[in-house]
Amino acid sequence: MEYHKPGSFEEATELANKNAGIIRFLAGGTDVLVQLRSDIITPDVLIDMKYINGVKDIIENDDEWQIGVAVSGAEMSEHKKLTQEWPGIIEAMDLIGSTQVQGRATLAGNLCNGSPAADSVPSLIAAGAQVSITGPKGVRKINVEDVPIGPGKTSLNKGEVVSAIHLPKRTNNQGDAYLRFIPRTEMDIAVVGCAVNIEIKNEVIIKARVSLGAVAPTALLLENAAEKIIGSKLENKALDHLAEEASKACNPINDKRGTIEFRTHVAGVLAKRTAKIAYDRARENK
Ligand SMILES: Cc1cc2nc3c(=O)[nH]c(=O)nc-3n(C[C@H](O)[C@H](O)[C@H](O)COP(=O)(O)OP(=O)(O)OC[C@H]3O[C@@H](n4cnc5c(N)ncnc54)[C@H](O)[C@@H]3O)c2cc1C
Repeated sequence: MEYHKPGSFEEATELANKNAGIIRFLAGGTDVLVQLRSDIITPDVLIDMKYINGVKDIIENDDEWQIGVAVSGAEMSEHKKLTQEWPGIIEAMDLIGSTQVQGRATLAGNLCNGSPAADSVPSLIAAGAQVSITGPKGVRKINVEDVPIGPGKTSLNKGEVVSAIHLPKRTNNQGDAYLRFIPRTEMDIAVVGCAVNIEIKNEVIIKARVSLGAVAPTALLLENAAEKIIGSKLENKALDHLAEEASKACNPINDKRGTIEFRTHVAGVLAKRTAKIAYDRARENK
């Protein structure tokens, strides 16, 4: 196995493009190293992202947050303003593994590992987050929901690497939240994860994005479910319609953590609960 420490994204791209075999990027390593040590995947080429300038930065611009691809969940949680603006994304990152894992795990790694149960992915989708991708043809920007295409698979082409995560800046009257269900209290992966991001005006929801994880081969953006709460003050009827649409969108697997029926039901329950928290946060955010 070759190990490389590129000093720029262009160099990382070149390495990934010119080498054959199994290529992996090393961010926090909490997926890559576990897969390597347990003989699930042994990369031929390991490209360490941590030595590229700026990858540890959280930058606040006028219209967006730019989060570096080696910023850990713990570093995000310690950023006061980011936590105030995007509590749902932070609570998703805070659910990943243990304190030790959170000290290394990154948004980019969580997204590019391609797990349908990845906790931060629904929260990023609900936020309307985008990623910059640097590749042999230059830099392109895509929505987070367009990155995963199946379990363990992404839409990234040969030689492409995620070079930044972009979150919109917040205005007043907006709020987000993330909840997941797991069979035990911690250190497990989501049976269902749900993120909701809401904007209100005079207590009426004027914008909403709803996303579910672990109920389909990739995290889902539920436009129909969001429609059910837009125009409402999240009354019980709107919540019931939201739950119905959330359950309808599910295409889950049966496994030891939950049956198809259970996951489908829990998706509706979580959608309601998550929407209520996001709505309350939007009301408090004056
Ligand atoms: C004990 C334990 C508990 C865990 N619990 C959870 C949990 O509760 N919820 C959850 O969602 N996950 C969990 N995980 C999985 C893991 O911690 C997360 O997926 C984490 O966010 C991965 O980030 P990383 O930086 O460590 O990724 P890495 O392991 O460094 O990389 C993961 C994948 O992403 C690719 N990659 C990394 N950076 C880039 C980039 N910039 N561009 C393109 N591809 C890239 C790599 O090639 C690799 O395929 C757990 C892991 C462990 C070991």
